[in-house]
Amino acid sequence: METNPFESAIKQINRAAAVRKTSSEVLKRLSRAERELTVSIPITMDDGSVQIFEGYRVQHSSLRGPYKGGIRFHPQADINEVRALAFWMMIKTAVAGIPMGGGKGGITLDPRVMSKGELERVSRGWVKRMYPVLGPKQDVPAPDVNTNGEIMMWMTDEYEKLTADMSGATFTGKPVGRGGSEGREVATGLGGFHVFDALREKLGLPEYCTVVVQGMGNVGGNAAKIFAQHGHTIIAMSDSKGGIYNEKGLNPKDVETYKKEHGSLKGFPGAKQISNAKLLELKCDVLIPAALENQITRKNAKNIQAKAVLELANGPTTPEADDMLFKKKIPVIPDVLANSGGVVVSTFEWEQNLKGEHWSETEVLQKLKDILERESNNVFVQSKKLKTDLRRGAFALALERLEEAV
Ligand code: NAD
Repeated sequence: METNPFESAIKQINRAAAVRKTSSEVLKRLSRAERELTVSIPITMDDGSVQIFEGYRVQHSSLRGPYKGGIRFHPQADINEVRALAFWMMIKTAVAGIPMGGGKGGITLDPRVMSKGELERVSRGWVKRMYPVLGPKQDVPAPDVNTNGEIMMWMTDEYEKLTADMSGATFTGKPVGRGGSEGREVATGLGGFHVFDALREKLGLPEYCTVVVQGMGNVGGNAAKIFAQHGHTIIAMSDSKGGIYNEKGLNPKDVETYKKEHGSLKGFPGAKQISNAKLLELKCDVLIPAALENQITRKNAKNIQAKAVLELANGPTTPEADDMLFKKKIPVIPDVLANSGGVVVSTFEWEQNLKGEHWSETEVLQKLKDILERESNNVFVQSKKLKTDLRRGAFALALERLEEAV
């Protein structure tokens, strides 16, 4: 990996603290995780052999509430990545103004080469190792890359067996029939749309935009559909194997169906094939990285032709690339604001579980919209007040709230 994501995260907070005066004691405290756990998870594979997987949980900050953050399954997941993601969760929950701290977890594995049974055993194994430090009042995990509602259900089931806590409030992102919240599935993509919509005019973007989306999982797939529903034109989409491009527009639903049937986007009718690298450099109004970190770096930032970047992935832009885009007057709507819809609805889920309630989809989505419109505006005001970019504006808002908590 070109950049250590945790180093990028620390650079970001120091850069924000340079424009918004923050005491060095507070900064020191916010830059170190409160607790980090690395565990080994032995699993009997389907062929009878035993494999040991490495699992992580980083509990970065509980200053504003229980640790909150997803669990990632990925062959490149490691402690530095999880550290960075946990740190960003602390900033994100503060930017959203929700009563949560920041944490993140992961397991180094490649889900594409494992059976469902093996994945279930390793998911349950992660909980067996971690359960003493989890719980509704301690640490509340959720899905992230390659994890979903079914995995959250296996984890919830294991947690209930080990602790007899039946509140269901330890994991969020569960299926709706098992204590999940209405709206959680679409929350990150939809939240990204609300943030974009709240800032669109302020950033001088047209009413109807051309949009490029990298990644078509939970976040990218839903975002593409929601942007298209609102009249924007999706001109390119991709997954880990590559992308497709049609300047006249793609129907994200058809692209998704094609991927389900064929396993990739190769051969999608009426569109040109394009690599992920080239896709990022397409001319468009809005570029949405929605896959992994370190996609826009000092190597390709000069080639970015989008009028704005909406970061739905975590950490897709390195600090060096941030500066280059700022100079080119390409605003970057930062991850800690843009993709916070997921954690906002996760927090609603936790609250519903604790109160034994089930809120309607209309209620959940209205609350989500209200929070994101309000905080997008707050971030914009901060960035104008400090004469800086939106990322530093968002970090400044978080620093204000975290400093108060300290
Ligand atoms: P996912 O597993 O559902 O989907 C990931 C997508 O990215 C897949 O389409 C995959 O093919 C693609 N991808 C993987 N590697 C790629 C590469 N090198 N180039 C291009 N595409 C690649 O994951 P997700 O939940 O959609 O998460 C995507 C991003 O959004 C991550 O950065 C995650 O941390 C962030 N995020 C997710 C949530 C959430 O609620 N799920 C919330 C906030 C942030």
